[in-house]
Amino acid sequence: MLEQLPEGLLDLPAHQLHTRIDDHTLIHLDGKIQRPVFVSILQHGDEHTGWDALRDYLKNHLQHGLTRSLIILFGNIQAAALNRRKLPGQPDFNRRWPGKRIPDDAIARRLRVITDKMRQANLFASVDIHNNSGRNPHYSGINRLEKPFLNLASLFSSRMIHFTSPDGIQSSAFSRFCPAITVESGLSGTADGREQTHTFLELLLTQTNLEKVPGILEHPEIYRVFASVKVRPDVPFRIGTGPSTDSDEFVIKKDLDFLNFQRVEGGQVFGWTKGPMPLLVEDQEGCDITCGWFAIEQDRVLLKHPAVPAMITQKPQAIMDDSLCYLMQPVQPPAMTRTVKNTTEESA
Ligand SMILES: [Zn+2]
Repeated sequence: MLEQLPEGLLDLPAHQLHTRIDDHTLIHLDGKIQRPVFVSILQHGDEHTGWDALRDYLKNHLQHGLTRSLIILFGNIQAAALNRRKLPGQPDFNRRWPGKRIPDDAIARRLRVITDKMRQANLFASVDIHNNSGRNPHYSGINRLEKPFLNLASLFSSRMIHFTSPDGIQSSAFSRFCPAITVESGLSGTADGREQTHTFLELLLTQTNLEKVPGILEHPEIYRVFASVKVRPDVPFRIGTGPSTDSDEFVIKKDLDFLNFQRVEGGQVFGWTKGPMPLLVEDQEGCDITCGWFAIEQDRVLLKHPAVPAMITQKPQAIMDDSLCYLMQPVQPPAMTRTVKNTTEESA
């Protein structure tokens, strides 16, 4: 673990970081409050907002000293050099953290060592910064519906997703020993995502108690992911505006990502095909629930019941590597219910 930033690091954009540091470099920067915040960036090499916002933050504060100690984890720096999510043949870096059924490879072993080290570090909070490949409002992902997690997420956005899958992600591994969230700052490289993430870091680094964050959590909008929607691996597909006339490839509806975080009614068209069902819908346990959620009617691939989709992407590589989208339902925040109850008890 480095104890200071390598010379000139803050001047480098994400694709040049590989000239000074390696994949999974950890840097510990001392602040006035000792207990550190952990910030993970670039686990996916083409998601730059975390580094851009962190650079802005450090340029503002390093000269006069940080409010709180910071541990920075640089993720896939080699992939960042090529502006790729990961390099060919590599596992996804955010699917190898300690979890339920993680393949035992070199990356998984390295992440296990980092996790053990960070468990000893008595972290105040952990934040893993990402971007979406489709148009989404800014939101955070939480693994536990507990007050410190909700408060931490609220510092970034009132919109949050509660998820317990996929396996092997950083925030899930760290949620066993500190409040941990994943932050999704919209499309990589956009100014509003960089600004909102920078503001979030400013707010977070001055907090003293995540059990109590005054003025926050007024109207949280929480969703639970209940399914992932993938294109079946053997199905050829493209993005388009109508059915293919001469082939049985699956045409995914163009601009479908405008539906992200909108309540969508049953009957919504996701695409067109002349072949069998091109989608594979799996619940959080990995069971196939496709028939319950999608149908084909006159070559149209339709959603059968109301749901809130998120992370719909139109990037073919992202669809092949990960998913077309996730399906969610709104949930009642338990911490809020508790707060309301306490207030009633006090006034009674
Ligand atoms: Zn990512």
